[in-house]
Formats: sequence, C-alpha cells, structure tokens
Amino acid sequence: MLPYATLHDAETAINRSLTTAETLWFNYTATTSDYVLYCYNILFLFLIFTTVPLFYLFTELLFRDYVAVYKIQPKVRFSVNDYFKCYSDVMRMFILVVGPLQLVSYPSIRMIGVRTSLPLPSLMEITSQLIVYFLIEDYTNYWIHRLFHSKWGYEKIHKVHHEYTAPIAFAAPYAHWAEVLILGIPSFLGPAIVPGHMITFWLWIALRQIEAIETHSGYDFPWTLTKYIPFYGGADYHDYHHYVGGQSQSNFASVFTYCDYIYGTDKGYRYHKRLLQQLRDDSKSNGGSNASGPDNKME
Ligand SMILES: [Zn+2]
Ligand SMILES: [Zn+2]
Repeated sequence: MLPYATLHDAETAINRSLTTAETLWFNYTATTSDYVLYCYNILFLFLIFTTVPLFYLFTELLFRDYVAVYKIQPKVRFSVNDYFKCYSDVMRMFILVVGPLQLVSYPSIRMIGVRTSLPLPSLMEITSQLIVYFLIEDYTNYWIHRLFHSKWGYEKIHKVHHEYTAPIAFAAPYAHWAEVLILGIPSFLGPAIVPGHMITFWLWIALRQIEAIETHSGYDFPWTLTKYIPFYGGADYHDYHHYVGGQSQSNFASVFTYCDYIYGTDKGYRYHKRLLQQLRDDSKSNGGSNASGPDNKME
C-alpha cells in the first residue's frame, strides 16, 4: 500500500509529475496491501505453469508434421493423458508446496527490501536487475544441481525430476517437494542481494519459470528469441542432461552455458554434438538423406 493519500501527495514526494504507468500503479495499489501484491505471484505462477506448456501441447497437436523436425528426441511420444498426468502432479505440488511457500515467505521479501513504492523502476533498472538475478540464480543453481547428482541427492530427491528422460513443457516444475523448496534459494538470492521493485520481482519469477518451461519443452525451435542471448543453454542443452539420465555429469546449469564450460561439465554434451555432426557429414558424403533436420536430434 502506498504511503500517499492522493496523486498530488505522490507527486510532491517524488518531486515531479507521475507518468501514465505510475498513475495507473498509484490508482491500483492505493488500497491494495503489499502482502496481496506479493501473493499475485501465486496467480502468475499458476497461469504460467498452465498456459505456457499448453502452447507447446497445442503446437504439437495442431502442427505435428511441421514441428516434428524440431523435436529433440523424435522417437519419444507422449499421449494427451501423459501430459494431463504430469500437469495434475505439478498442480498437486503447486497447491501443497509452491502456493503455501509464497503465502508464508512474505516477511523475507519485506526484510530484503523489495519495494512497492513510487517512482516505478526504469526499463534500464528492471533489465539490469533481471540480468543480475539470472546470473546469480544460474551460478547457485549449478552447484546445487551438482549436489543433487551425488548418490544420496539423486536417489532421495532429484530422481523425481529425472523421471522424464525426454522432458516436456509441463515437466519443468515436476520435482520432489524438497527440490522445489531448495531451488527456491537461488531464485531468492538475486533479489536479496540487489533488491528492486515488486514489478521487477514479478517479472523475475515469471521469466525464470517461462525459461524453465522452454528448456524442458522437448523442442528446439530456431525462431525463439532466447537464441540471441549470449551463452544461453536452451532446450537442446538441458534436454541432453535429461537424456543421459541419473548418471548425467553434464549440463548442470539452468540457464547459461558458461558454468559447465568453466568447470568442465559440458564435455559429454560437446562430444555428443561432435558425434552427431560426424554422422551427418558421413551421411552427406554417402549421398544419404539423413542429413536434413535440426543438428540436435537424439535418436
Ligand atoms: Zn539433474
Ligand atoms: Zn530439468
């Protein structure tokens, strides 16, 4: 809730006229508590976990022949029932863990100083903070993920997420409840170190989940905007981690590729890519027809 009674009070406090966006924010949040604003994350996450995977499902159902060439593991097929089962498992976890975690974690958001006040952050401020959040999350997630691949961590916790050796969009948040809780830490660290506005925080939570859904989609579409992000891993990169399964010691990073490169945990993936390229080159030189299609098919 904003500490200004009127628009005039707000303009006096920030010593300038409010922009249109700030006026809208003022009007909307004047009578809404900060706790309720924070809890909007529950609604946003529900919408993202539901609608973004649905986009991939409908794309597969309606344009199967057209998008087949971009499927990373083309021999693996899931029925609509499989998708529904995954979604219902994710929603059960959402109701029992993710939602309650959001409801009780508000004091930590207040403590680190996420603000709802005016002025609103500039586009530059939002973008730079989001970049920092992604980098911090990626680095921390990398090491936690490596720990999850220890014998105990994998058997007790992480193998649930690896039930999908060919991941699907609905399976991005599919994990053991302890993994859901523990991986909340990397997501929280960025805003804790560089606290920003509630709008930036909403965007961060939303974009991180959309990114996770894309990397678990099972499709490596060439037109995704994330292809233009330097050192971005993407669907093909993380799919390989699931493809190898429990023994995987490759591609631990959640977003970028630099951690795996620095710590030498991308060697299996690089070797796999070289092998596929070699097969394609051989096929071409032999006049075969298997050279077409994406460069990342795992068959
Ligand atoms: Zn893993
Ligand atoms: Zn995964």
